[in-house]
Amino acid sequence: MRMRLSQSHLNQLALCPRRFQYLFLDQFSAPITPEQQENLAWGNQFHRLMQQYELGLPVFSPAGAEARSDPIQQCVQCFIQATPDLFRSQPNHFRQSEHRRSLELQDYLLTVVYDLVILEEHQARILDWKTYAKPRSPQWLAADWQTRLYPFVLTETSSFQAEQISMTYWFVRATQPGKAAPAPASAHFRYNSTLHERNRADLTALLTQLTQWLDDYGNGKNLPQVHEAAGHCATCSFARRCNRGQATADNHAWEISRIEAIQEIAP
Ligand code: SF4
Repeated sequence: MRMRLSQSHLNQLALCPRRFQYLFLDQFSAPITPEQQENLAWGNQFHRLMQQYELGLPVFSPAGAEARSDPIQQCVQCFIQATPDLFRSQPNHFRQSEHRRSLELQDYLLTVVYDLVILEEHQARILDWKTYAKPRSPQWLAADWQTRLYPFVLTETSSFQAEQISMTYWFVRATQPGKAAPAPASAHFRYNSTLHERNRADLTALLTQLTQWLDDYGNGKNLPQVHEAAGHCATCSFARRCNRGQATADNHAWEISRIEAIQEIAP
């Protein structure tokens, strides 16, 4: 059976193969704090409500006053009001939330789930809702495998040219009690054929390497550790297991992304 890989798997693999092993092969769990658990639940509920809205299902409580008092509903409402162009249906456009695609590459099934995709005659837009507190920098996002894999898979599985595809992240934050909702920020990335070929080359190399590592793992050999000088170990929750110093309490974001990855590729 082909192994499914999401953008989170690729990010972890690129960051540290041993970390990939611990999370996805050994399936070691790492603790997350109640606050992180709460943030994760908030993000999941936001995504669910956005999907309901796209499907035309009720999102807001029947009583307006009640809706206004629910922070997540309020946040969804504010986001939709602040970005009306995103939610204006056009008769010839295909749009779908939680749109899933897969692409076979080597022995793997690359799997993506778009929060919302809008396919028009001459352009395709991939939209992603981010609910973490601080928006990432454009440079960080451009290098992230999500920004690379999502348009790559759409280019390979549709009739759209790479130049016709874009990806936009929308950063949505919880409304603070008694405060106006902050304006949603966004980061927009246009795709092109140069990026596409670079992504293909990097994916091919990464997956070829992974196949070798998985063969070795089947023979009882661990996947390699990232070089300590890269600076990732100090904030990794597996630092003690790797004998690379102490894990800090403030970086369990990777564990959250692990959970998101598992949810993303769940059948
Ligand atoms: S401690 Fe370092 S080597 Fe070990 S899994 Fe984490 S990042 Fe990789």
